[in-house]
Formats: sequence, C-alpha cells, structure tokens
Amino acid sequence: MGLMQGHPLLISLLLVHAERHHGDGEIVSRRIEGDLHRYQWRDVARRSRQVARALDGLGLPLSARVATLAWNGYRHLELYFGVSGSGRVLHTINPRLHPDQIAWIANHADDRVLCFDLSFLSLVQAVHAQCKTIGHYVALCDDDYLPADSGIPGLMSYESWVAGQSADYSWPEFDENAASSLCYTSGTTGHPKAVMYSHRSTLLHAYGAALPDSMALSARDAVLPVVPMFHVNAWGIPYAAALTGCKLVFPGNALDGQSVYQLMESEGVTFAAGVPTVWQMLLDHVKRGGLHFSSLKRTVIGGAACPPAMIEAFQEQHGVEVIHAWGMTETSPLGTLCTLKNKSLKLPRDQQMKLRRKQGRALFGVDFKIVDRQGAELPWDGKTFGDLYVKGPWVVGAYFSAGAADPLVDGWFPTGDVATIDPDGYMQITDRSKDVIKSGGEWISSIDIENIAMAHPAVQLAACIGVKHPKWDERPIVVAVTKPGETLGRDELLRFFEGKLAKWQMPDDVIFVDAIPLGATGKMLKAKVREMPEVLDYCRRAGTPS
Ligand code: ADP
Repeated sequence: MGLMQGHPLLISLLLVHAERHHGDGEIVSRRIEGDLHRYQWRDVARRSRQVARALDGLGLPLSARVATLAWNGYRHLELYFGVSGSGRVLHTINPRLHPDQIAWIANHADDRVLCFDLSFLSLVQAVHAQCKTIGHYVALCDDDYLPADSGIPGLMSYESWVAGQSADYSWPEFDENAASSLCYTSGTTGHPKAVMYSHRSTLLHAYGAALPDSMALSARDAVLPVVPMFHVNAWGIPYAAALTGCKLVFPGNALDGQSVYQLMESEGVTFAAGVPTVWQMLLDHVKRGGLHFSSLKRTVIGGAACPPAMIEAFQEQHGVEVIHAWGMTETSPLGTLCTLKNKSLKLPRDQQMKLRRKQGRALFGVDFKIVDRQGAELPWDGKTFGDLYVKGPWVVGAYFSAGAADPLVDGWFPTGDVATIDPDGYMQITDRSKDVIKSGGEWISSIDIENIAMAHPAVQLAACIGVKHPKWDERPIVVAVTKPGETLGRDELLRFFEGKLAKWQMPDDVIFVDAIPLGATGKMLKAKVREMPEVLDYCRRAGTPS
C-alpha cells in the first residue's frame, strides 16, 4: 500500500483551503433586495460554520436533505458549504419547474428544510401544504424583510437563524463517498430523475473544472456564473472557485442582458458561464448599445448546442473566447469542453472555427464512446454517428430512487444523445436521440438546421422538428422567432439554407411564431414545440399526421 496521508475528499476541505489561502478573495452578489453585497471567502467560511451549527440545532441527522429555492448569491453559497460540509445533503430545486413538480420532487427527496429567496414566497405559499416532509422553512433575508402572516408554518429569517450561532465548529470527517448534493434532471426527457452526487465526485469534478483545457479557472479570474446554482450546481463553479481562489460575482435574479453586462463591467469579470439563450440576450443588448466587453476574456457555453453564429459574434466582434461544453445532470455536469490542441493552432481560422463548433474533447475523468443500436462501438472518423455513452468517477452510477432500474449498460451510461467523434477525439452532438429526424432511411440533424437558421441576421431563435411525411417517413421543418423589428419571409429563410446542406436535408417549410417554449433551464422544449397550435395547424393543412 502507498504510505501517503489518507484524507477523504470532502467539500469542507475546499472551504478550509479557501479560508486559509485566499481568505480575502472577494464574493460580490447582486441581492434580491436590489443592492450589491460584498464580502470575502473568510466570511463564507465563518458563516458556513454557523449554518452547520444551525442545522445541528434543528437536530438534523447526517444525510438529511436541505432544499433550496434560490438564485445565485452569497447565502446560497454558504448553504452549499454549510449543508454538505456538515454531512447533510443540499438539494437545489429548480424554481422554474411547475409547482406540482416542485412538491413532487420535495416529497421524493424527503426534504426536511427549505431555504428560499423571497422572490419565491408565493411559490412556497402555493406548495408548502403538499410538501409533507419539510418541517422548517427559512427565508433568505433578515428579520426586517420577513413577511408577516405568510401562512408558512414557523417561517424564520436566515439571518436570525444563522447569526445567533457560534462559528466555533469543526467540520466532521466521514467517508468521501457519502452523499453531498442532489439534483433532479429538468424533466425534458420524462419524469425528473434524481442524481445524488458524492463528496468525492464533487471534489474530482472541481479539479477537472479548473484545468486549463476545461474552464481554466485561476486566482486571477473574476467569475460570473450566470448558470444558476440550481442547474447542476452552477456547473461546479462554486466548488472550483473555492479551490482556485477566483473572485466570484453572483447576478441574483437580474439575468437580462443589461444587468448582466453592467455587472460584468463594474466587477471586471474575466470569465462567465451560461446557456445560449441567456447569452443571446446579452449579445443583443451589447449590439443595440454599440457596447464592448472591457474585461471578459472567456465564456463557457453549454447545456444546449451553442449556435456557431454566437461563437463567431463573441470571438470576432468582441475578442472573447467561447468554450463550447457538453454535459448533463448525470455527469455533474462537465463531460466535454472544446479547446484546441497544439497542432490545431496552425490551422486556418475557418478550420479552427469548425472545430470550436463541436462540443469538444473529454476531460480526464470522463471517457466516452459511440455505439450502434446493437451496442457495438463505432469508429472515431468524425462522420459515423451513434449513441453516446460515458463513464467516469463523476458520472451517475444509479438514480436516487428505491427500485429504480440500473441505468448503466456494461458500466457505461447511455446519454440519450447521438454524436460523432473525430480522430482527434472531438465529440459533436448530432441530436438528442428523440429529436433526430429520420427521412427516407437517412438521419437529419435538427441541430445542424437550427444552427444555420440562427445564423440568419433576422432570426432570434429557431427550433427544427420532424413532421410525419407519407413518403419520407419524416421531414424537417423550422419553427422560428424573428428579432424585434425584423421582418423575414418563409422563402427568404429557406433560400438561406441553399448551399449549406444537401438537398434532401433542407427543411421543407418555416413557421414563424411569437415565442418558442423554453424549459426550466432555458432550453427549447421540442416536445412543446410539436404541440404548438401553429405547428398542429400546419400539419393539418399539409395533411401530415403530427
Ligand atoms: P435534461 O436532461 O433534463 O434536459 P440536463 O441539463 O441534464 O437536463 O440536459 C442534458 C442534455 O442537454 C444533454 O444530454 C444534451 O442533450 C443537452 N446538451 C447539453 N450541452 C449541450 C451542447 N453543448 N450541445 C448540444 N446539446 C447539449
């Protein structure tokens, strides 16, 4: 056996490190109250210990679930460390889910405590009677803001609950495989499924997130996670920030382009992370105002395919490097990130750009393969596509649910995505397997079609779906939203595809709509798009059973 010290990899270690080695590192939060709050890692450490004591005071056993309904902010950060560090499990609930689904999730998770931002007061008032296991409700505010007569039993303010506690607390030591936090998938693929992370998986993921070919986080960065702390732990940024000592900037609930831009500029943000729909709002704001980014250097974009037009706008117009990333709740979430290899630096710009559109290379810790329907591995030639399978120490092993079926196939997790892998190991998502369009026995990638549509200067957002066709089985059509003040005709948009796709891959038609339904994490909900009245009407008129 090796003779090295056997410290378990626990989340509390990150906080101890942050306090001792970059205790004066800044955390800035735009609060729900409206102002900017500033403090330092040493304050996070002190107040997280107070949170741990407060949880002890409630008599909560180890592994009890503590839920949050909260935006990105310093109190949420304290819960990240105080709850998990003390051996309880942090359950970050996505407040954009339907209230019934929130109640279902809280019951399923056996949540004992719910801490929520006051912007979700009416939501909590609506669901608390259905949440059978929650015994304590905490509003993330001080007593001055605590609503009177909320109707929520025993509601207390976070500040009065925590501030009275002693900060004299020693983090417990336990098995690094113990549960640390819990996330439910956003349910775009059916009933939400629960993924239970461990301390070990979270720490390994934090190391992975900080690597140069990943998010390259360092003590020189000021990091703005626009991706919510309820969306797969803000992609691990809170943990990686404690590990590296970067400055953290939290946007609260102000996620519109103007607010995000102002915060980036005033806080000297160098790195930001978010889904494409949020970045679209930011780019629109910047374009309208003729603005530029004075400090932003890199942004990681993932959660849905990043349109090439967005990568180009950031890089060409603003000199901001886009790192396209792929992951899922089941992969903690980082799976692949797209950074160039040394040999690609010599490639002409357009070929580099082609590479950057892909979802990227596997991080150490995640292995992937593509397989055919019989499970046989397919070649890495950049053309052959198949079902994407992944494995690794921060990939789900089993869902948190009594009697849930084993999700693994020979130790690999089938992602439900269809992808190609090129000889250099760059993975590219073709589609979600249920969104792939099968036309005349050939597969058409809905993502390719959406990317082209979104490169049209008048298009704000576009979804490509397959509609039934008597001869070809399915044919692609585009459902598009135009930018405010722009007009665009069906024929003009269809002409825009010419020369960019093979003839049989071209969409048959375009339907313009006012808005495309987005899910709880800002992704287009294709299932809902298929049910839009305009789409059903189109299918009726075209005689294609939807
Ligand atoms: P849900 O599975 O409930 O939608 P997740 O947030 O876990 O919630 O979503 C993961 C899925 O999002 C992936 O399986 C993939 O289909 C999609 N996805 C994530 N990142 C990308 C990306 N960069 N390009 C294309 N699809 C992506």
